[in-house]
This record gives sequence, structure tokens and C-alpha cells, in this order.
Amino acid sequence: MRVADKLKDINKEINEACLKANRNPDEVKLIAVTKYVSTDRASEALDAGIENLGENRDEGLLEKWGFLGDKPKWHFIGTLQTRKVKNIIDKVEYIHSLDRLSLAEEINKRGSGKKIKCLVQVNISQEESKHGLTPEEAVVFIEQLGSFENISVEGLMTMAPLTTDEEILRNCFRQLRILRDQVQALNLEFAPCSQLSMGMSNDFTIAIEEGATMVRIGTALVGEDG
Ligand SMILES: *Cc1c(COP(=O)(O)O)cnc(C)c1O
Repeated sequence: MRVADKLKDINKEINEACLKANRNPDEVKLIAVTKYVSTDRASEALDAGIENLGENRDEGLLEKWGFLGDKPKWHFIGTLQTRKVKNIIDKVEYIHSLDRLSLAEEINKRGSGKKIKCLVQVNISQEESKHGLTPEEAVVFIEQLGSFENISVEGLMTMAPLTTDEEILRNCFRQLRILRDQVQALNLEFAPCSQLSMGMSNDFTIAIEEGATMVRIGTALVGEDG
């Protein structure tokens, strides 16, 4: 199926979820996750009108960047090894996976003179297999980020547990929003923390109902192969 057709369906679902939650669809940024697909398919997504692409590995991002350059806004959404920061830092609009001080130090060092927009990854579901800080750790962590002048904490990111249980998913997203509101209430200059990156192919409508400002959609939007 063409990306343009899938995009039409996804946009309809986004609009419906926004209507249900009394939100403006302009508040929800759609990120097409292209990690499973070819550069050609990613390029098709751009032609269809998608502006934001997400990759979870530096190799994938660099390969596609070689062809697409700055045409899309790039989002780094995967676990980021400290030594890989230098490869991607001047290419990405957002890093969604800030989860430790050593990584913050490296981003701060490499981002010289430019505020790097970061989201702090939180493991709401506390699944062992998922990266990210507990909500309690996240607050302490964010407060520590004030010493890094090149980092701006734009918001929080989470991955929901792998389940079809709507209540579990909704509860996970709601907890991230509550945490976001708590951080916002701290009024930290370096942490405006307005963004909520949550929701993937199977759960993005629920995430939007619970306040997502960025949804990261791979399979349902661009598929699994080129
Ligand atoms: C792969 C991935 C996605 C997209 O997953 P789909 O289920 O294919 O939509 C979103 N976020 C992250 C962090 C991912 O690694």
C-alpha cells in the first residue's frame, strides 16, 4: 500500500482521536518511523507530505541522511550509545532517548553553542526490557540537567508495554502526562517540558487522547519493508 494512502487513514484516526479529546490536531506531530524500511520508502513518505522521520539506530539514520539530508526533520528515538552521539548530533532535530548523565554530558560537549532538544525517556511500565528512568528518577535526573548549557529538556518520551489492554495503555500514557505536568510546574528555565512523545502503531489513538504531542508510527504508516 502506498504511504500516501496509509497517511490518509492515519490522519483520519489522529483527527478522530483529537476530536474525542477536544484537542487541536495541530498539536500532534506525526513522526514516521522508517527503521524497518528502505531509503526509497522513506523518500516516498516525504513525497506524501510527511515532514518528520524517526530512526532508532545511528547507522539507519546516517544511511538515509546520506540521501535525504535535511529535507525531513530527523528524530533519534532509540537507545543512544555515548560514543555515537557525535555521528548524529548535527543532523537531528530531537533526541527522544536521554536517560543518563553520561549521555547528557556527551550531548552537552558535542552540542557546543547550540541548544540540543532532548526528551527524557521514562519507563512508566517498568518492564525490564525497556529503557528509561522510573518517574521518581526522572524528576531528579531532570533537575540535574540544569548544569548542561547546551541541553533543553523539551519533554518526556515513553514506550508503552506490549499489550492490547486499553486500560493498561491508557494508564501508562496518563502517568507520563502527569509526570510532564509535574516537571512543568517546577518552572525550570532549561526544561520547558511541554512535549509528550508517546504512541506507536498499535496505541497512538489512545496516546493522543491522553495528551501526546508526538506520535511515532512505523508499521502502520510506512510498513515493514521497502
Ligand atoms: C520502532 C519504534 C516505533 C514505531 O513502532 P511501530 O510499532 O512500528 O509503529 C516507535 N518508537 C520507537 C522508540 C521505536 O523503536
